Order: sequence, then C-alpha cells, then structure tokens
Amino acid sequence: MLWDAYNRPIKDLRISVTDRCNFRCIYCMPHDEYEWIDKKEILTFEEITRLAKLFVQLGVNKIRLTGGEPLVRRNLELLIAQLSSIEGIKDLCLTTNGALLADKVEALKTAGLKRINVSIDTLSPEKFRQITKRGDLTKVLEGLFAAKSRGLHPIKINAVIERGVNDDDILDLVEFSRENGFSMRFIEYMDVGNTNSWTSEKLVSKKEILERISARFALREVGRENGSAPSVDYEFTDGRGEVGIVASVTEPFCSACNRARLTADGKLVTCLFSSVGHDLKALLRGEPRDEEIFEFIAGVWKKRQDRYSAERLEALQSSSYDPKNRKKIEMITLGG
Ligand code: SAM
Ligand code: SF4
Ligand code: SF4
Repeated sequence: MLWDAYNRPIKDLRISVTDRCNFRCIYCMPHDEYEWIDKKEILTFEEITRLAKLFVQLGVNKIRLTGGEPLVRRNLELLIAQLSSIEGIKDLCLTTNGALLADKVEALKTAGLKRINVSIDTLSPEKFRQITKRGDLTKVLEGLFAAKSRGLHPIKINAVIERGVNDDDILDLVEFSRENGFSMRFIEYMDVGNTNSWTSEKLVSKKEILERISARFALREVGRENGSAPSVDYEFTDGRGEVGIVASVTEPFCSACNRARLTADGKLVTCLFSSVGHDLKALLRGEPRDEEIFEFIAGVWKKRQDRYSAERLEALQSSSYDPKNRKKIEMITLGG
C-alpha cells in the first residue's frame, strides 16, 4: 500500500477522458472557449488502461470516469470494457451530464458498467437551460430513466446548489429521487477552476441544505462510505432511500482524501485544486518499463501534502480567503 505525506493511501482514481463538453454550466465552465487539449495529446484507451493497471497495483480499487463530459469521447464503451476486466477494481463508475446517455446506455451496460452518477441541478426545463446554457432537461431525463430500466444501480443524481439559482429546488429534487429510486447527492458550490466567479455568498452550506430537507423528511445520519467518501449520507427514516451531501467548503474531508486524478492528457494530479500536474504521458510515450511508471507515481504520491479545502476553511474563518490567489487547473481538464 502506498501512503502520502499525511498517511493517506491511494484508493480512488478519477480519470478525465476528455476536456470537451456539450454543456457550459455556469459553475463549471461558463465560457464558450477554453484552451482545449490538442487531440494528439489525449491518452488513448490503451494508454489509460496500462496506467489504470499500475494504479491498481499501487492500491487503487475504485475508478470513476469523468471529464469534461465523458460521453462525448467516442466509443467510451471500449474503455469501459478494458477497465472492467482489470482484476482488483471493485467499483467502476461514470459521472455524466446525461445528454447522450439514452443513446449510449445499452453499450455502456454491455461493456460492464454497473452504476452511474448523473448531474441534474433542477427539474425546471427553463432553469436547467439557464444553468447548463446548452442542456435539454427532457433529453437528460430520458437518459436517466433509460439507465434505470437497463438496470444500472445505484443511480445517483448530483446537484450543485448555488444561492439564488437553485436553492429553491432542493425539496423537488429530493421528492423526485425518492419517488423514482434514485439517490440524491447535493454538492456545495466550490471555487473550482478560475472562471466561475465563486463567492462565499453563493454557497449554500451542508447545514442549510440539511435543515431544508429535514423540515420535510425525517433523516438519520449514516456517515461516509468507507469512512473516506466525499459525501456524508443520511437515510430517510421511512425507509424510502437516502440522500448525501458533499460539503467540501464547510466540512472539508482532506484528512481522509485518497483520490488521485488523471487528466485527459495524462497528467497525474493529486488535488482538485492543484495548480500543476505530473506528466505521466511524456513518460508513457517514451516507452518505459512498467517499473519506471510505477516508481514515478509512487514518488509523486509519497510527497503529496494537499489539503486545499482545509486551508480554505481556515482562511474563510479568518476572512482572508481570495479564490483568485491560486491559479488552478480547470475542472474540465482534471476531472470532477
Ligand atoms: N460532465 C459530467 C457531469 O457534469 O456530471 C462530469 C464532469 S463534472 C466536472 C463532475 C461533477 O462536478 C458534476 O457533478 C458537477 O456538477 C460538479 N461540479 C462542477 N463544477 C462544480 C463546482 N463549481 N462546485 C461543485 N461541484 C461542481
Ligand atoms: Fe460540462 Fe459537467 Fe462541467 Fe457541466 S459540470 S460544464 S456538464 S463538465
Ligand atoms: Fe482531496 Fe484536495 Fe479535495 Fe482536500 S481539497 S479533499 S486534498 S481533492
């Protein structure tokens, strides 16, 4: 097992398969154009699979495919088939905006995908369009229910809550998920990347989200899955499912963070708020032996000291926090 400088093991690998996206969510990539990764720099499925096998040898047992929007990467099911045959991966998951899900779900399931997270911030079609700028809620819901009828389970719905935008949608989303057997995950709005104009006034805290839900439904805290998951989970006491809240801003979980990220162009990134990545692609394309890649990853992880969210909370509490002080890698590049 591989440990970092704060005794955190490497367990969870988030792989961004593309930095492109068919949406322009206001909290993630509000601009039309970014500095896109050149096509020839994008890792091939074979390169990703080779790296994934090495990460598994180092302790990773969970892989999430993300982006950008992973379903805009052509033939993604071929990668899923390769990854799902790696021994040692206990959990392979995909996070998607759902726009292309209805067309893709059959191929994804056949390739071995078992579960999925779909991002839906509101059930109002007009507001959905305002938040995503390019999204069609009907199409996303079609994908969500196609995934359900094709037997993907559990299906989690992710919603980023932003004050004045969709904080009045919390209960609708909870009711919708309870009625249809989905798990709701509310995510505190974070200052990811450099373009989303985050301010603490736009944040709706876990405490507030919880108060709004508990005013309607009785909840019992279950805790974090495996003690290290980003989400704190609660079950409805009437037995009708559960809801989770990811409180990166108000209750940071850096002390248990076991997540590594691989960007679409093969950089190893050790924190969602990192400014730099470590170039695995350059190494990989120099035709190294597996041992050399293994040593490179281990060397990076052993030195890891990231605890950005914990530092942000300390700075917020002393009113000295300015998100612009650090130039971060965009979330679409490093994978949410
Ligand atoms: N495109 C896919 C999607 O939207 O599900 C996968 C990539 S997206 C970057 C992964 C997750 O990050 C989504 O659930 C999204 O809502 C979340 N996210 C993006 N920007 C965020 C922000 N500023 N604060 C909190 N979560 C954010
Ligand atoms: Fe695209 Fe997902 Fe970011 Fe929205 S959250 S812009 S769907 S990558
Ligand atoms: Fe992990 Fe960085 Fe998030 Fe802390 S801020 S939980 S170290 S990804």
